[in-house]
Amino acid sequence: MERPENNKLLDEALTETIGSEKPNTLASLNPTGFLTLRFRDLRHAARQAAQFAAKHPIDAVVPVDGQAVAVAAAICEMLGLRYNSVKSIANAQNKHHMRQVFEQASVPSPQFRLCSLEDEPVALARQIDYPCVIKPLALSGSQGVIRVNAAEEFIPAVNRLEAILKREHDAPPASNTSGDGREQSQLRSPESPRRFLVEQFVGGPEVALEGMLTRGELRVLALFDKPDPLDGPFFEETIYLTPSRLVAQLQEEIAQCAAQAARALGLTEGPIHAELRLAKDGPSVIEVNARSIGGLCSRVLRFGTGMSLEELIIRHALEEDLELPKRQSQATGVMMIPTARAGRLIEVRGLDEAKAVSGIEDVAISAHLGERLVPLPEGSRYLGFIFAKANSPQAVEAALRESHSKLEFVIEPTVDRTRQDGRTSLSERSTEAV
Ligand code: ADP
Repeated sequence: MERPENNKLLDEALTETIGSEKPNTLASLNPTGFLTLRFRDLRHAARQAAQFAAKHPIDAVVPVDGQAVAVAAAICEMLGLRYNSVKSIANAQNKHHMRQVFEQASVPSPQFRLCSLEDEPVALARQIDYPCVIKPLALSGSQGVIRVNAAEEFIPAVNRLEAILKREHDAPPASNTSGDGREQSQLRSPESPRRFLVEQFVGGPEVALEGMLTRGELRVLALFDKPDPLDGPFFEETIYLTPSRLVAQLQEEIAQCAAQAARALGLTEGPIHAELRLAKDGPSVIEVNARSIGGLCSRVLRFGTGMSLEELIIRHALEEDLELPKRQSQATGVMMIPTARAGRLIEVRGLDEAKAVSGIEDVAISAHLGERLVPLPEGSRYLGFIFAKANSPQAVEAALRESHSKLEFVIEPTVDRTRQDGRTSLSERSTEAV
């Protein structure tokens, strides 16, 4: 588990116990510092934590990623600690349940239809309104999310999604090789590998809202503009900028919409990360995650006198009446560096030049040399992150784009095993820099 970026909390003699799925090699040296939990069996994990808590009282449980959220909820429910209910997390982690909950609560969100890979595809393709988006029920990072514009594109897109679902379902539990800490593909429920959602494509700019819930009340920590259009066919995140350039009234509508969505899901405590589209008739909720922003992106947020988002989350979990400090007002932004092509990463060029661009705080390459890169929609990882700070969101955006333009990723072709026809092919003809 991650520690907060700055260690202020440690000064206050906070004792941490890290719960993880796999035993930690240092556990014998510090038995109360580590707890191995069976993440896949929530009740069992909660009982394990309760046994531990009988000897070493637990004040708060803070999940560090999407995978740990359900376990944290189960433990908190058993120990009577303040956090989201298991049911609300189940609502938020299944895209179909989320849509159903939103529909029942009249939360503005795309129309949807639950489909099965067993459905007759030609008939299904005829019944759908285009453009639509097809998506898995329980993956993350836009993996498997595909825009489809017309009936003739539908069957190839569903075939592609089927291959992704099969691979994810058959794969051993993912280990986070990219180091970016993004959510893993975690839900292997029996319905997930054969079902998918077809949703109305909602056009318009997209925003991300980072918020904190306290007893069901949402406080906005930051609203991010995403200046690159997300029109598909795949939905790669790139630039996040805050403060938002949207007018105050629209920002307020977005916040209300996110609060309504969180309420409908039953979420009450802790961080949320929501994605919304700004359609012609107002904001539409794409999703609400019961976790904070993914990867290293939280580095762009600082609160009060310099508190990190992670510290804020821990303090919030520990202190019932914590007065949330305000985000530092300077314009900041992050660019998630997209994986432009498949292959093996051989070299990263231009790092020093990219870091030297005015306004750039850091460039962190999280992909490892030698790593096999898989672009969307089959993959879900980024090559790294660029962080910037400047006097205005415009200047931040310009700095991020200039820095990115200095980077060159040398990628060697590898045998592509992701083809659906069972044959293998070279994903690229020659080593190329992108
Ligand atoms: P994930 O949890 O994998 O990120 P999402 O459902 O949030 O999956 O979809 C990822 C991205 O795909 C969204 O941020 C958005 O850009 C795009 N997207 C998903 N569903 C829709 C939709 N119905 N209309 C328009 N864009 C969508």
